[in-house]
Amino acid sequence: MAEYKYSTLAVHAGQHPCPLTGAVNVPVYLSSTFELTGIGTDRGWDYSRAGNPTRDRLETALAALEGGHSGHAFASGMAAIYALVAMLRAGDHVVCSRDVYAGTVRLFDQIVSGYGIEIEYVDTSDLKAVEAAMRPATKLVHIESPSNPLMILTDIAGVCAIAHARGAEVSVDNTFLSPALQSPIALGADIVMHSTTKYLNGHSDGIGGALIGTKPEHKERFLLVQKAAGSILSPFECFLVLRGIKTMPLRIKQHEENGRVVAEFLSTHPKVEKLAYPGLKSHPQHALAVKQQKGFGSMMSFELEGREAAGRFLGALKLFLNAESLGGVESLASHSATTTHASVSAETRAGMGITEGRIRLSIGIEDKEDLIADLDGALGKV
Ligand SMILES: *Cc1c(COP(=O)(O)O)cnc(C)c1O
Repeated sequence: MAEYKYSTLAVHAGQHPCPLTGAVNVPVYLSSTFELTGIGTDRGWDYSRAGNPTRDRLETALAALEGGHSGHAFASGMAAIYALVAMLRAGDHVVCSRDVYAGTVRLFDQIVSGYGIEIEYVDTSDLKAVEAAMRPATKLVHIESPSNPLMILTDIAGVCAIAHARGAEVSVDNTFLSPALQSPIALGADIVMHSTTKYLNGHSDGIGGALIGTKPEHKERFLLVQKAAGSILSPFECFLVLRGIKTMPLRIKQHEENGRVVAEFLSTHPKVEKLAYPGLKSHPQHALAVKQQKGFGSMMSFELEGREAAGRFLGALKLFLNAESLGGVESLASHSATTTHASVSAETRAGMGITEGRIRLSIGIEDKEDLIADLDGALGKV
């Protein structure tokens, strides 16, 4: 399928008709076990934890969309990150973007560090800091670009060059942009991670996660974690993500266009401060965004005067829903300090630059004029 362009892959990779019935959609194989053909022989599947035909199709699609060697679907984005670090051992060192998804910090600090694995948070937007953090025991550099909610970029190719020179692998959480707008593997990454809950599914109706590897060893390792630890995605959820993927390129086009128009509107509004959106020329890393991304996405954040102003704004929105998460067809607005970063201490948040007035937007695919009217109306109430 590698000869096909992106939108074609989204519709067809892993999504060929059912060979038995001709059904054009991937069947949902609700079967825990599979009849064997003899002693030690089967038709490709024996037990659904180890492999399921619907999951196989999704995993094929994910590998194709990211240009990887194999795809692996997990029960959530967090389960995928847990699987990523499952094969590390006591004494190993991990370098992680400081501005990473707060759930990743919770997993690393409250669970993984208890295994004797050392996690070091580094400002990965600064390549010199990444270089300085590398040690002989560093096995993995885990990065997120753009970051949440400040939209700080990490130079993926730059980090890969530093890590590879020291024998470490690089994993990239590509959730914020989707495979349609950023290809970490093409930039040198070894492993790509997704919360499929967001743009891949795209309809806010299922939780899921994925890892895409580039080497046969990754496939072996992630298949073992799926089979041994068991946090696999159910066949029905796999079907939902496969269904979402078909329209992802189309959805992303609208997300992008709306994101750009909303960012332009906000950038001139007197009540909006410190707007973070890499598509604006005023973003300090706009040139890097142009270089390593295929678009700017539809995530952005900005500051209002304080917590009270943020509350009034969220309460006055009519179309935007005050909810966590992102990447669905509906536009969402959320208060970073009490949602995604609630588990981060106020002190750490302040150090990161996430104030009590910080609002994050995930721009959906509604009509852009309606979205702007809603934001304008709510800002008027601040
Ligand atoms: C949502 C999210 C996750 C976690 O994914 P879940 O599917 O909620 O477990 C990880 N990283 C990023 C960037 C996310 O937005």
